Amino acid sequence: MRLSKLFFHTFKEAPAEADIISHQLLERGGYLRKVGKGLFIYTPLMWRVLKKISAIVREELDRAGCQEISMPLLHPAEIWRESGRWEAFTSEELLYTLKDREDHEYCLGPTHEEVVVNLISNWITSYKNLPLNLYQIGNKFRDEIRPRFGLMRAKEFLMKDGYSFSSSSEGMEEQYEVMRQAYNLIFKRLGLDFAIVEAHGGKIGKGKSEEFQVKAEIGEDVVMVAGDYASNVEAAVAIAPDYPFESTLKERKRIDTPNTTSIEALSAFTKIPPQQILKTMLYKLVFTDREEFVAIGIRGDRQVNELKVTTHFGAMEIVAANEDEIKKLTGSQAGFIGPIDLKLPFYADQTCQPMTNFTCAVNVVDIHDTNVNWERDIPRPAEFYDFLLAEEGDRCPHSPDTYHIQRGIEVGHIFNLGTLYTKKLNALFQDEKGQMQPFWMGTYGIGIGRTAAACVEQHHDEKGIIWPLAIAPFKVFITAVSTKNPDQVKAAEGIYEQLQKLGVEPLLDDRNERLGLKLKDSDLIGIPYKIIVGRAFDQEGKVEIESRTGEKTLLTPESLSSWAKELKI
Ligand code: ATP
Ligand code: MG
Repeated sequence: MRLSKLFFHTFKEAPAEADIISHQLLERGGYLRKVGKGLFIYTPLMWRVLKKISAIVREELDRAGCQEISMPLLHPAEIWRESGRWEAFTSEELLYTLKDREDHEYCLGPTHEEVVVNLISNWITSYKNLPLNLYQIGNKFRDEIRPRFGLMRAKEFLMKDGYSFSSSSEGMEEQYEVMRQAYNLIFKRLGLDFAIVEAHGGKIGKGKSEEFQVKAEIGEDVVMVAGDYASNVEAAVAIAPDYPFESTLKERKRIDTPNTTSIEALSAFTKIPPQQILKTMLYKLVFTDREEFVAIGIRGDRQVNELKVTTHFGAMEIVAANEDEIKKLTGSQAGFIGPIDLKLPFYADQTCQPMTNFTCAVNVVDIHDTNVNWERDIPRPAEFYDFLLAEEGDRCPHSPDTYHIQRGIEVGHIFNLGTLYTKKLNALFQDEKGQMQPFWMGTYGIGIGRTAAACVEQHHDEKGIIWPLAIAPFKVFITAVSTKNPDQVKAAEGIYEQLQKLGVEPLLDDRNERLGLKLKDSDLIGIPYKIIVGRAFDQEGKVEIESRTGEKTLLTPESLSSWAKELKI
């Protein structure tokens, strides 16, 4: 490609809203153009990168035995209602919904489980045709609450989504493993430093699930790492540091605690350590057909993992109770809700089980009880369960090491769905014994745009992007130092033609501009190699080659073919 013909523009400054480096560099390099919040045009440079990532994804998936299809972006509401997800997604307002001229409802697909199950259940009738693993690469729509960071969290974005169908639970696990390996190879080929971390299934279900997390400070995901084990904080099982609770039970006392609406304030006022205070949270759980309130107790120094609560009760959504609801349900106010005289279901995190002589609220403003003990003063909760949000320093059940926090960008997600959807959607096949069975399903996603952005986040310097060779929009940048020197111009043209024939994807900067500006542009857009035809060419017939990371060599134009072959450019 000749730069003079390329639809291309670089900018000195990134837009003010671009607050992470990858977004800034992609904007400055002219890779993106925002059309609206979370909506982007991909310029030729960006589209080349996205196509290259997609090509690697296709290659590895095809090798793993998957087959590419293409499904519509517009989905009829009925199939989403059948699976029960219309309500789940609309309650979080993630779904774009619309109606056609006949008043039929649709959504713009945020993911395609319903549609693909529909396809399978109409075609596959026998175990003999399984396993089957289908994927597509296409746009997804999600009305994200906080679209930001450019391609990282957009409202419309490019995703590879894949779905496997097997005749047994073991078959499903095999497919999962195949995809895990394929994803591993894909992200390695993309030059990413990533970790495979245990994940929470979110709305999709409860089966085994892992995320591919690219390590990055700006990552929106909190990953708890202990030795070789890693888990998204959403799913992390942790053991909080013990606290030496007394074994001799003391006399329960009611105390005045004015204005102590937080654990910190209560602890400061009473001189009681937070570990010895039982904190009670009041939540509204939203189900498809009803709402319920529950109170969750936790040791005062710790936080509740709300996702664990949602999953435990099988709710679609969880919302902290508001002041009015608290008043109505307890007669009290936030900061003074407690298990004593509470007329609501009360559950507690496991951290509460060993507590003795603890302090807790009694649903009366400005009052607490101290030296409270289970059974003697209040019945044990309906259940002690794991509702704990993991923290740095907690023990990990999968490693002798304690947890530390690393931030990550979720670029891929693999998931065993079991028969959750296929049962709901009545997608059945005939097994060896002639019995009808629901398919065992897996679902697997890769954010193509987010992966590109994550790659920039990991590969850049003060000058700009440093694309790995595998996905650079062009691999070699060529220019003559002086556009007024016909020998240099001719040599640059010759090298361009030569490399083009080799399939190296060169970019010839034939603009009548200063050399400094040209090299700056090349560095900003992240081309891996520059070939400069300048003084060395005039003097000794050699061109200067400089890698994006700074290594320089001098070569004759004739030796460029073997240079390119050697470096596998
Ligand atoms: P997140 O937790 O970041 O919102 P998710 O878990 O909802 O993502 P999945 O449903 O697992 O996303 O989608 C598969 C992949 O699609 C993700 O791993 C991610 O790489 C990508 N992805 C999801 N949402 C977006 C988005 N809004 N913009 C860009 N890529 C996205
Ligand atoms: Mg995910």
